[in-house]
Amino acid sequence: MTRTFNFSAGPAALPDEVLLEAQRDLCDWQGKGLSIMEMSHRSDEFVAVAERAEQDLRDLMSIPDEYRVLFLQGGATSQFAMLPMNMLRGKTRADYINTGIWSKKAIAEAKRYCDVHLAASTEADRFLRAPDAAEIQLSAETAYLHYTSNETIGGVQFDFIPDTGDVPLVVDMSSDILSCPLDVSRFGVIYAGAQKNIGPAGLTVVIVRDDLLGQTLPGTPTMYDYQVHAQGGSMHNTPPTFGWYLAGLVFQWLKRQGGVQAMAEVNRRKAAKLYAAIDQSAFYANPIAVSSRSIMNVPFTLADDALDAIFLKEAEAAGLLNLQGHRSVGGMRASLYNAVPEAAVDALVSFMADFEKRHG
Ligand code: PMP
Repeated sequence: MTRTFNFSAGPAALPDEVLLEAQRDLCDWQGKGLSIMEMSHRSDEFVAVAERAEQDLRDLMSIPDEYRVLFLQGGATSQFAMLPMNMLRGKTRADYINTGIWSKKAIAEAKRYCDVHLAASTEADRFLRAPDAAEIQLSAETAYLHYTSNETIGGVQFDFIPDTGDVPLVVDMSSDILSCPLDVSRFGVIYAGAQKNIGPAGLTVVIVRDDLLGQTLPGTPTMYDYQVHAQGGSMHNTPPTFGWYLAGLVFQWLKRQGGVQAMAEVNRRKAAKLYAAIDQSAFYANPIAVSSRSIMNVPFTLADDALDAIFLKEAEAAGLLNLQGHRSVGGMRASLYNAVPEAAVDALVSFMADFEKRHG
């Protein structure tokens, strides 16, 4: 098996062990003579896979009993609409923190359903930092506060959980869920597209507190109602079975690595190595305020952007893939999700030093 080091922002690297397990099981799942993709979602076999995946996620994140875990489709982008539909609960206003491209998309969608108040925004600082806790001002009568814990494109991550008192806190954790321990009880809703730290694209995980269910906006489509999915065990219709199964394998792998605490240590070390390489050089740069630097997505620029294409070509030849920055910002971006091994970062750092020597 030839595997490159894959720094894709998403769909992103999956653990080799998980892919090999899926390969082994692909045509003949546990001697049943068929694949997991080919069996009913209501079969005893699939229900056992699904329940184990949920339990493993609950164990990994220490999810309290009063939270439901939903395995949905539609990506995090569907959540941008599902949230106001489910979370306004008779109110007409929601608060949002604007930290970049993904927050903006969530805000734009919420505006279709309610009055959006910006509780904080770092747009004036070109989104080069997350706000301080003291900057966050909730409006009266707000239904919830939404924020993006990690801006995947900007490489900006919150290093704290906003305090909202009794106001439910909602977070888009698409790009940093499971990267470090989290106090789930601080949140009303946590959601994430799977294709970074959970599994393949096509699955979206939503963790929602029980008492927030059942007060949807009139006219909410059945498929957009959290309570429908909670009551149906995420099987109101056919769930994304293969994604759910594969996520389950990733959760088992995470447990074998020592869980999120162990991952957090490795993730911090990986990010620290890359930021150190960038900061020590006059050739590479990352503009994000140090306390807001993402440990998952590290954007960086070269001193001369005319070298970008050469950098990417040489990186690829060295087995370092998908380092191109998002089309909206250019430059480079290395995504360092859980499944990206520390050896990948070591290889990248030494490639960068070598590239600088030759082209700097
Ligand atoms: N939020 C964040 C923070 C993201 O990184 C992404 C995808 N990159 C999305 C939302 C949108 O997710 P999806 O493509 O699953 O709709």
